[in-house]
Amino acid sequence: MISYQEALQIVLDSIRALPPVELPLSQAVGRVLAQPVTARWDLPPADNSAMDGYALSSEGNLSRLTLVGAAFAGHPSDRVVGPGEATKITTGAPLPKGADAVVPLEETRLEGEMLLLEKQVRKGQHVRPRGEEYHSGERLLEPGICLKAGEIGLLASAGIVRVRVYPKPRVAILSTGDELVELGEMPGPGQIVNSNLHLLAARLREIDCDPIPIGIGRDTPEAIAEGLRSGLKADLLLTTGGVSVGERDHVQESLQALGFEKKFWKVAIKPGKPILFGMVGEVPVFGLPGNPAASAATFDLFAHPALRRLAGHRQPGPPQVAVTLAEPVRADAKRQIFIWGYLEISESEFLFRPSRRQGSGQNRSLQGANALLPVDAGAGELPAGSRLKAIPLYLSPM
Ligand code: AMP
Ligand code: MG
Repeated sequence: MISYQEALQIVLDSIRALPPVELPLSQAVGRVLAQPVTARWDLPPADNSAMDGYALSSEGNLSRLTLVGAAFAGHPSDRVVGPGEATKITTGAPLPKGADAVVPLEETRLEGEMLLLEKQVRKGQHVRPRGEEYHSGERLLEPGICLKAGEIGLLASAGIVRVRVYPKPRVAILSTGDELVELGEMPGPGQIVNSNLHLLAARLREIDCDPIPIGIGRDTPEAIAEGLRSGLKADLLLTTGGVSVGERDHVQESLQALGFEKKFWKVAIKPGKPILFGMVGEVPVFGLPGNPAASAATFDLFAHPALRRLAGHRQPGPPQVAVTLAEPVRADAKRQIFIWGYLEISESEFLFRPSRRQGSGQNRSLQGANALLPVDAGAGELPAGSRLKAIPLYLSPM
């Protein structure tokens, strides 16, 4: 059986970023840039005031100044400021001709019509020179940058209306199992709610992907094949259940009939051993186990990095941070285990507190968890205070 690292490498080697699309800036937050962006103009467009106060020439006689004109943001003054003169100015207003410094309101006094200064004036003080932030033709952003609020503001300042970005992956979710009913229906004898759909759809939204529920494929090869066919219209397909060795586990055989190129089935991890991965054409397909905590763990260990790659991120992850164990944990003899738990910031370090429950069949293993702790096979008992690395689920690389 292959290891987690080997399997993750296969996933990443199989997947390329989706073809870029052009989006209005208002829809581009969270997307990864697929083009360089260059400034079309200087910002600020002119020398302007960084304070509310008075614009003047630092070279004239500064003992008593005569007020001439006023410059407001959006309303420049066309009156030249001569020696011994000052123009009232507000923050962001272009500096009038003749001025080379701004004296803040707080450092001045009015005596009748005359302005008196309380401090020395330095040439260029409180002036934001034209192009201080960027010059026309300057490279603002490189491809591969994830656009967050700060980058969106920068692009807007440069008048960039549309950008080429990698699109948000659309992810189909096919649930399988004769025992499942949809949320809102009352489970009959032996039935349970299709909770994995909601778990995965929520997780997809958390990581900025669009979930597309395909419904429940009943446990026959035909029903599952039908679900798979519609799911393959998405950018990535997740199935849950039906990938073990049970008599009614038909996902793999149904995929085969659709041209599935299997990359691996079964990885030496716990939970999530039966995970299946391969491609149908350009569409990555993950057969996630049905057990909720196994489904969720394999989603974060494999599908999340795959989705980051589709979305154009340079670092697909998952990221790891150094942690100190708050409680002892015990390794498995044969498989690498992933322990659900809570990462807590304590002074200058992350403490990892394992969840009370770890059962792969239980939704409650995830309750309150924000991290997975990989523990190598055969590592024995690791006491509290041990230093390990954990995978934070709510802290992505950019
Ligand atoms: P399977 O992988 O199909 O053998 O399912 C393993 C376990 O996960 C069984 O107990 C299933 O009832 C359960 N399970 C499968 N699919 C779901 C689902 N969508 N939501 C909740 N539990 C599920
Ligand atoms: Mg099943």
